[in-house]
Amino acid sequence: MNRAAEALRSLLFPLARCLNCNEPRELDPGSALCDACQTGLDGVRVPDTACPRCLSPQRAGEPCGYCRKGGMPSVRAAYAPFLYEGAARQLVVHLKFGPFELAAKPLAAAMAHCISGLPFNALVPGPLHRRGLRARGANQSALLAGLVSRETGLPVRDALVKRRDTRRQSRLPAEERETNVRLAYEAGGDLSGLRLLLVDDVRTTGATAQDCARALRAAGAEDVSLLTAAVAWRGGDDG
Ligand SMILES: [Zn+2]
Ligand SMILES: [Zn+2]
Repeated sequence: MNRAAEALRSLLFPLARCLNCNEPRELDPGSALCDACQTGLDGVRVPDTACPRCLSPQRAGEPCGYCRKGGMPSVRAAYAPFLYEGAARQLVVHLKFGPFELAAKPLAAAMAHCISGLPFNALVPGPLHRRGLRARGANQSALLAGLVSRETGLPVRDALVKRRDTRRQSRLPAEERETNVRLAYEAGGDLSGLRLLLVDDVRTTGATAQDCARALRAAGAEDVSLLTAAVAWRGGDDG
């Protein structure tokens, strides 16, 4: 191909890179992953054997260790399509640094599938707050909630506000983390009788989800469940 033809071709068929493996490929509009990585997502699905309350690993017939140690008492049930591993983890990272919408689409589609047909009244995005996101203007939980709303028809209700800045979780010893997020969020408005689904990108320690769920329950919510794109089985530095 001569140079002009090459330029025309790249204009008509721009090369994009797979968000997971970085493989250049012809752009398939609306798709974040190459075919191989899309298939790879199936390999990091949360197994059916996970604890239904928190999605932690669980041996048949035994209560999950996380819930036994306290878990997330204000969260009725947890839903997530993926473990925080492999291609799913890459997409979650891209939710923070971009390209936001492209990374969010396959996650939100899988999240919507997890809750299809379940009787919730509204989606509540985790508040814009932590990890210094205000400065970057990215709010991955609101982005995911908006896309899940489009797929499910459930309304988004911005019921949570942050009460104060939490110190960086990762710099704190584990036993201080819980008290640090405690009372960091509050719910606005009357949520009486509503069955709410808290939406976030990833559940790590569960401390944030527990705190948000407790605030929603305090504002009258009948119950609160948690929907995340991914769940980290080995803990993490916040969330
Ligand atoms: Zn790929
Ligand atoms: Zn559990």
